[in-house]
Amino acid sequence: MKTITLGKAGDQPFKIKGIGVSKYHATVTIDDYGRWILADNNSTNGTFVRNELSGEFMRVGPQGMQISEMSFIVLAADNSAGCCFYAKQLINPGDYVDEHLYMRNKKLEFDQEEENVTKRAKLVRVGIFTIMLIFTIGTIFWQIADPKSTGMMFTIYRALSLLTMGASTFYDAQSKRAKIIKRRKKFCQCPNPECDYKLTPDAIENLKCPKCGK
Ligand SMILES: [Zn+2]
Repeated sequence: MKTITLGKAGDQPFKIKGIGVSKYHATVTIDDYGRWILADNNSTNGTFVRNELSGEFMRVGPQGMQISEMSFIVLAADNSAGCCFYAKQLINPGDYVDEHLYMRNKKLEFDQEEENVTKRAKLVRVGIFTIMLIFTIGTIFWQIADPKSTGMMFTIYRALSLLTMGASTFYDAQSKRAKIIKRRKKFCQCPNPECDYKLTPDAIENLKCPKCGK
């Protein structure tokens, strides 16, 4: 079993500078089965872990929470403005290859998701256009066959345009894309604790921090 105290006076293998971090902020325990438990030590500003599915930051209490080597820990804030690092830095400090790979893979996932949303939106647009085209041609033939039915045609057109508006509101690709971008920011932005450089997937093309080379 191994216990590491995180904080300004903690025994983690790197310096914690963040404003608002307590002296003995939190504790990580790695038991003999390799399970990682993170617990808050009644710190002033709290301890948080990022949910790897939603990107939301969850508060960790003194009772502790099971985490993994690749858990993203944040001290003293519930966003990446706090003092943050991946748990594995506690046993493998200074090596950021896994973090960089993780961030780059996440970015690829989000890119794929965005591409799917765009593709689906295109399909919906083509579908709506096809329906409108069929009805337009249909009403033209109808008018030719029965010129007195202009009033009825007008009603059909009005109903169709309402339907089209409803369909495009229902399938709002723009807001879906905005949500993806918001989530991508939570996963694909990480200050490098070595130099405080805000790393993004584009910045780490060579899996190295462009500022300090780590
Ligand atoms: Zn750096």
